[in-house]
Amino acid sequence: MLEKSEQLNHEKMIEEFEGLTRDAKRVQRETLHKILTENREAEYLQRWGLNGRTDPETFQSCVPLVYHSDLEPYIHRIADGDVSPVLTGKPITTISLSSGTTQGKPKYVPFNEELVNSTMQIFRTSFAFRNREYPIVNGKALQFIYSSKQFKTKGGLAAGTATTNVYRSSQFKKTMKSMQSQCCSPDEVIFGPDFRQSLYCHLLCGLICYDEVKTVSSTFAHSIVYSFRKLEQVWEELCTDIREGVLSSRVNDPSIRAAMSKLLKPNPELADLIYRKISGLSNWYGVIPELFPNARYIYGIMTGSMEPYLPKLRHYAGGLPLLSADYGSSEGWIGANINPRLPPEQATFAVLPDIGYFEFIPLQEENAFNVLHSEPDPVGLTEVKIGEEYEILFTNFAGLYRYRLGDVVKVMGFHNSTPELQFVCRRNLLLTINIDKNTEKDLQLAVEEAGKLLLEEKIEVVDFSSHVDLSTGPGHYVIFWELSGEASEEVLNKACDCLDRSFVDAGYVSSRKVNTIGALELRVVERGTFQKILDHFLGLGAAVSQFKTPRCVGPSNTRVLQILSDNVVKRYLSNAFA
Ligand code: AMP
Repeated sequence: MLEKSEQLNHEKMIEEFEGLTRDAKRVQRETLHKILTENREAEYLQRWGLNGRTDPETFQSCVPLVYHSDLEPYIHRIADGDVSPVLTGKPITTISLSSGTTQGKPKYVPFNEELVNSTMQIFRTSFAFRNREYPIVNGKALQFIYSSKQFKTKGGLAAGTATTNVYRSSQFKKTMKSMQSQCCSPDEVIFGPDFRQSLYCHLLCGLICYDEVKTVSSTFAHSIVYSFRKLEQVWEELCTDIREGVLSSRVNDPSIRAAMSKLLKPNPELADLIYRKISGLSNWYGVIPELFPNARYIYGIMTGSMEPYLPKLRHYAGGLPLLSADYGSSEGWIGANINPRLPPEQATFAVLPDIGYFEFIPLQEENAFNVLHSEPDPVGLTEVKIGEEYEILFTNFAGLYRYRLGDVVKVMGFHNSTPELQFVCRRNLLLTINIDKNTEKDLQLAVEEAGKLLLEEKIEVVDFSSHVDLSTGPGHYVIFWELSGEASEEVLNKACDCLDRSFVDAGYVSSRKVNTIGALELRVVERGTFQKILDHFLGLGAAVSQFKTPRCVGPSNTRVLQILSDNVVKRYLSNAFA
């Protein structure tokens, strides 16, 4: 049983959430009022002539919709040391770096204490709902979390990924403790300078306290899968470390070594146990519950660009439930997963109406991808309609006003009066040549379908990306695949045809038939290519736990395209429409 005081805390959290969502419209008005009042001195807001008015109608008629690029000059002034109220009333002292996997380079985003507060609020809300279904007592969490490099901007502001800024906040540890989710690893591992060494130690720390581990998690599912792929390679070395109580020489960072030496004692029984457990597995199926028998679930963002990792994660998880985490971004949080029993593919996110002011641009079928050229007319949080898709806009406490995040969401239902959203895709991840429009989701489905053909040879698609090649006329889609082994020519030819046929968008199919789009090309890249892409982003300041593989590489992402192109080992052209 949970301790009574904790149980009461979780119930209070749920009650609070119920209260907020029952009257979401009023809460939204109040939240906007609060944001605009706190930031009334901000130069940006003054520019739009609100003159102290804080109602949604005035706000919408005075303040324009913006992209990140519109706010960049303001954000750069802040980063360069301008302490006047530029975007917010109180000066911004920290900058977050978004993962930047879409544009090719990380974006600067303002970060402040309000964002830490809303992060904790959303963590605690979804945990309260999770804990109702899967209660955890006296738990530790095997958390694959990493800090990014931190640096100072020209103006002396601390800059790092949003997750790093959160992990460094004093509230983070307290919240994790209240959620029975204290990380098995010491801070030196989380904040270590080299993620490979940190990952090795996360695995080691998890194994040392294997029977206390109640959850296995990371921010995104990619990093959980990545970690267990690594375990497949290093498990014997980990067993040796545990047997002898001496950390492998692969970890050479002095602070990590010092911290690990306090935890690592010779334990031959545990080493034997792990050895036996792993030796008894068939193709690593169910390794997570085997090694961590008291784990209740696996937790992390599993939706959107993380869905392709689900089959591998399910394989490692055996029967252990996969619970998809909340929905947010470096710019701020949006919704909590309050239905943890839903499989990740169906996960929805209930918007917290007091963490920001939300608007939604309707995307009707015919103009879903042409909003740029028409005048979007956003609706409020409580005015969205079930079954419709929208682009999300938000206004927050950290200086973003009517900000186009670039995500497409679908309204699946309402919890009280707040919508429950499903993540659909990022808007700009689009394969398009002429009248064809394929989203990240379409690409994912095509890869999933073609990937099935490889299974007969027991081969998996480790990771994938895509590109529109216009260098030859007519332009054509290029799909890059990294595979777990060597597939036969026959299967790869078939897979290439299957990819081409699996893009069922009418524009694509009709263009392919008349050859205004050329045959799809499958390019198989060398093992380790996607690791090089990850390394490239880490070098730019990204953190592994926030990493998302770029699924569609556009012209701005020249370095990633070059890495992919330099590592191609085989090419296939589709005959599907020949
Ligand atoms: P970042 O650039 O690292 O701040 O990533 C933010 C983006 O990650 C969001 O705009 C979404 O596109 C994606 N994302 C975040 N949470 C989720 C989620 N729960 N499901 C799907 N995609 C998500």
